Amino acid sequence: MISPYFKEEHKLFRQSLRDFLRSEIAPHFDEWEAQQQIPRWAWAKMGEMGYLGLGHEEEYGGMDADFWYSVVFLEELGRIGNGGFGCAISVHQYMALNHIARAGSSAQKEEFLRPGIAGKKIAALAISEPDVGSNVQGIRTSATKADGYFIVNGSKTFISNAYYADFITTLVKTESGLTLLIIPGDAPGVQRTKLKKMGWHSSDTAEIHFDQVKIPESHVVGQEGMGFYYIMDSFQLERLAGGLLAVGAMDSILHLTGKYMQEREAFGRPIGKFQVLRHRMADLQTEVEACRQLAYHASWLFTQSQFAVKEASMVKLHASELQKKVADECLQMFGGYGYMEEYPICRAYRDSRVGTIAGGTSEIMREIIAKMTLDDIKYDKVY
Ligand SMILES: Cc1cc2nc3c(=O)[nH]c(=O)nc-3n(C[C@H](O)[C@H](O)[C@H](O)COP(=O)(O)OP(=O)(O)OC[C@H]3O[C@@H](n4cnc5c(N)ncnc54)[C@H](O)[C@@H]3O)c2cc1C
Repeated sequence: MISPYFKEEHKLFRQSLRDFLRSEIAPHFDEWEAQQQIPRWAWAKMGEMGYLGLGHEEEYGGMDADFWYSVVFLEELGRIGNGGFGCAISVHQYMALNHIARAGSSAQKEEFLRPGIAGKKIAALAISEPDVGSNVQGIRTSATKADGYFIVNGSKTFISNAYYADFITTLVKTESGLTLLIIPGDAPGVQRTKLKKMGWHSSDTAEIHFDQVKIPESHVVGQEGMGFYYIMDSFQLERLAGGLLAVGAMDSILHLTGKYMQEREAFGRPIGKFQVLRHRMADLQTEVEACRQLAYHASWLFTQSQFAVKEASMVKLHASELQKKVADECLQMFGGYGYMEEYPICRAYRDSRVGTIAGGTSEIMREIIAKMTLDDIKYDKVY
């Protein structure tokens, strides 16, 4: 489809990225799903290709590319058809590294951002805790100052990339409020436990326990006490990323379903000739296209430096809910084969479930949208 947003260079980027993901990454998916790990060589390869620092500064190895490159990147990352891989890569680049890129010191950028962009160090972002998820302000992990250090105590859970992460951008409670602190994964007192999940198997998800972990004050990202505002600000990017990944994933589900409908026969003809199934596909294609255009519009607002909280939340809400529906209705068209592990629709179905939970639940997205549309509440940019 012709789009006013993408120039020739974005189209070329899309093609070369798609070729790379298909030839170098996708052939390993079954292995990574079984091992529940993305090997370090794959991170390094993504870094070498420039795919982990698209929007980040050239000075630290990034591409400093406009946001439409990231839109293409996230769509294609979703389209390649492994939710766990998409989650791991997007959390690393757009969530964990993002804060260091925007508010970090030059020493932090040298130590964490540069190797992160190169794919030599893996990053995680830890906000959620066993007792607190949606209500970010209620987190309890504490960091107490002592002789130029912070002593961190508490727990985080459901943290993507955290089991293998070299560093974890962590939201902690300090005397001055909530603060972002970079905690090395191997710091003494950090204990990580890998969690078993329903889907997203390629990505590791961990619970982290901090017991008297000593972190230098120089690891504070930006200003102490500003962590909550940094997190709230970057949620717009996080929600857009989640929405764009879902749009790409839905494209791939519709594509493989369309193909199956031509191949599978019932009652002497391809199932794609049954009107009830054709019309279902037509409805789904229409809804996905509408969702994509909403995501592009919100992305355009983002490129105009608009603080598009409402639109980004709408994208996250709509895309993740629609992905569940698309995966479910498409799996139905595969009949019994849809339930079999060797069919990619099986993984797509499993991977689609978490979208309405991770990165802010649908209920929280609706609350934000309702506050902004019914109560006229406005939010301000921090960065
Ligand atoms: C696979 C996976 C990966 C994740 N990765 C990360 C990560 O990398 N980093 C990180 O920090 N977190 C991560 N999370 C955590 C995720 O962001 C949280 O699970 C999510 O924000 C919800 O928090 P919770 O699970 O504590 O649910 P709760 O906050 O306990 O909510 C439980 C239910 O109550 C509803 N609810 C809560 N408050 C309200 C309200 N005010 N109004 C209406 N309904 C409400 C929720 O919508 C939900 O349905 C991940 C989660 C998963 C499953």
